[in-house]
Amino acid sequence: MDIEALRADTPGCAHRVHLNNAGAGLLSRRTLRAMTDHLELEAALGGYEAEAREAERFDAVYTDLAALVGGRPGEVALFDSATRAWGAAFSAMHFAPGDRILTGRAEYGSNALSLLHTARRTGAELVVVPDDESGQVDTAALAGLVDERTRLVALSHVPSSGGLVNPVAEVGRITRAAGVPFLLDATQSVGQFPVDVTRIGCDMLCGTGRKFLRGPRGIGFLWVRTEALDLLEPPLATLKGATWDGGGGLTWSEGARRFETWEISGANVLGLGAAVRQALELGVDRIGRRAAALGARLRDRLAEVPGVAVRDLGRERCAIVTCTVGALPAAEVAAALARHGVNVSVTAPDHTPFDAQRRALPPLVRFSPHYYTTGDEVDRPVDLVAALARRTA
Ligand SMILES: *Cc1c(COP(=O)(O)O)cnc(C)c1O
Repeated sequence: MDIEALRADTPGCAHRVHLNNAGAGLLSRRTLRAMTDHLELEAALGGYEAEAREAERFDAVYTDLAALVGGRPGEVALFDSATRAWGAAFSAMHFAPGDRILTGRAEYGSNALSLLHTARRTGAELVVVPDDESGQVDTAALAGLVDERTRLVALSHVPSSGGLVNPVAEVGRITRAAGVPFLLDATQSVGQFPVDVTRIGCDMLCGTGRKFLRGPRGIGFLWVRTEALDLLEPPLATLKGATWDGGGGLTWSEGARRFETWEISGANVLGLGAAVRQALELGVDRIGRRAAALGARLRDRLAEVPGVAVRDLGRERCAIVTCTVGALPAAEVAAALARHGVNVSVTAPDHTPFDAQRRALPPLVRFSPHYYTTGDEVDRPVDLVAALARRTA
């Protein structure tokens, strides 16, 4: 990978040390251009006319996303966020009193709230599967909990609040053997390292454009295995997703498009397409190796700083690194780094509520480098954190 060229093609690299790819990655010029070109075309031709002109490009976004996750183009649907994508799949399932839904401690806050809400509304039981001693989801415990009452396993691949990579292929083996649907939240993993729905064995997967994929804000996607479509009944039937049969019924659109609504930002769709294309061209395995190596370097160095406690869990870890710095509030650490041009973020406990409650976690400082980050960019913040830790010791 020509890191210098990739950085030169990323305007944000000139101004900041961007270690917030788990929040939103930096756009490349190529992605930015795909978006502005389309906006110019909309202004010049009209929005509908621009979409018609670019129809092939729009189709290619589905093809490329399918290639990225190892599915088929007809299994992909676009939304304005990962949360909407996840919700489209989840709310298409039916639950009754006595049914069980299994999730993990790393589950994302919005998913957790929806799971709790649905459990309360339907009388289904939500079970949070414990972690093993490494902090990843305990697959033996999960296998023991899957039974004839289990209607769904919903799990986050990588939590928003740490470097953990859950053993999702093992989870997939268990769910497939039991015939239980598996909804995977891959919002932090797609774009960061290879994610393959066949290898994992999930039935539904959601992701977002803006994080490690480096696409725009305001776009997300859902992948649904063709065979799983029959298990799902979209709660909303729209002009995009269905057609009236002229009588009392309707026919769903082919594949995952049945979940879509008619309106979507063309610039965001094509921006996502450009970002996905770029990831495919660079090679997600190469992206993953470099991102994980930078994450490991940052994690190891932070761990050596007196007063710093790294909070990442799991056996396999990725480019997300979380820590506390003595008793300093995470927001103060983030603000101090920002004054030195370093972008990091602060994880709120309610973003991973089950894990935060279990470990009594305060807000954490979250660093998330990516493949276009340099070694110097992960080392410099460690010196800044060390200076802060010394001052407050
Ligand atoms: C950010 C995040 C989401 C939500 O993504 P949106 O596109 O903001 O809806 C879901 N799950 C995880 C694990 C996340 O980190």
